[in-house]
Amino acid sequence: MKGLIFDIKRLALHDGPGIRTTVFLKGCPLNCRWCHNPESRCFDTELYMHVDKLEGKVFKKQKEIGYWMTVNEAMKEIEKDKIFFEESGGGVTFSGGEPFAQYEFLTGLLTACRNRSIHTALDTTGYIKREQLKNVYKLVDLFLYDLKHMDDKLHKKFTGVSNKLIIENLEWLSNRKRNIKIRFPVVPGYNDSEKNIDLMRALLEELYPDVKHIDLLPYHKMASSKAERLGLKQQVYEIEEPDAFKLGSIRKKFEETGFVVGIGG
Ligand code: SF4
Repeated sequence: MKGLIFDIKRLALHDGPGIRTTVFLKGCPLNCRWCHNPESRCFDTELYMHVDKLEGKVFKKQKEIGYWMTVNEAMKEIEKDKIFFEESGGGVTFSGGEPFAQYEFLTGLLTACRNRSIHTALDTTGYIKREQLKNVYKLVDLFLYDLKHMDDKLHKKFTGVSNKLIIENLEWLSNRKRNIKIRFPVVPGYNDSEKNIDLMRALLEELYPDVKHIDLLPYHKMASSKAERLGLKQQVYEIEEPDAFKLGSIRKKFEETGFVVGIGG
């Protein structure tokens, strides 16, 4: 069985503890207006026009996004940095897209990592079938769990899916005392209202102290221009980056309740 990957990033420092290898699985069931990884969304390989500028000249070259790998091939790549994992307390992070969208491939990778004693982190939207989550949650050492919006109508409007399953899965994992770090993409005008922050805080307070780490991921303008640069068919929305004051006030709100808050992941 093969899985579709769009990138493997070695020596990553922001996707979990220690030095990590991050494997990006291609395909995502969500459609966030602020998507920072437009090349991860499609469930198939894609062609795009890569543009380079050198000494006033423009060079265009067609490239392909995504490649198929078996679990063994992916593990060979992952194991190249095993020594760094061991020295730094790191490991491998599966990201996307949504890694669960390739459930069988992901299960194969998580099982292989467990058999080799490699620490695993899973960066997930939480939009996961409960049966699938039940089958593999014990193979994941750390969940990097996205929370995007507490209002279900707005969640649907901005991401294309309901937040119901996402919140229920988070509560379910928390009840099982899993190691969970929340990731909150702060997108001005979309999810940074006081009301949304208060609702998020209320939910997380119920899960505290089993869930006590939150990373605020400030929206970056590069995200919207990336789709254009890649020539991918994605609507690009005008979104501003959050300012330091706004980020600071969100951070303070969570810290007041005892959460450990990071900015940038
Ligand atoms: S969940 Fe992530 S990869 Fe999927 S559409 Fe949203 S931002 Fe993009």
